[in-house]
Amino acid sequence: MSDVLPKERKEKYIKSQGDHCPFCGNPDFEGGSLTVEGGSCSQEVSCLKCEGVWWDCYTLTDVVADSSMDPENVKPIKDEEPSPGGTT
Ligand SMILES: [Zn+2]
Repeated sequence: MSDVLPKERKEKYIKSQGDHCPFCGNPDFEGGSLTVEGGSCSQEVSCLKCEGVWWDCYTLTDVVADSSMDPENVKPIKDEEPSPGGTT
């Protein structure tokens, strides 16, 4: 898949947190379906003015437990490094 967007355009778009169409600068666009793949996610977005279509790409940056979770739920994971000083 070829990408016609210049690097500067992308940087401007990312800096503004995707508040405009990267093709024409129009703030009216709509998000389509989300595709989740491993630790990343992309969403198809289309401009309502110039009919430009692009993908917003997201990366997994954090994980937060639901407030209902008890610390007891944090079980040892097999391939995890043993904590220093812990019993083996
Ligand atoms: Zn546009």
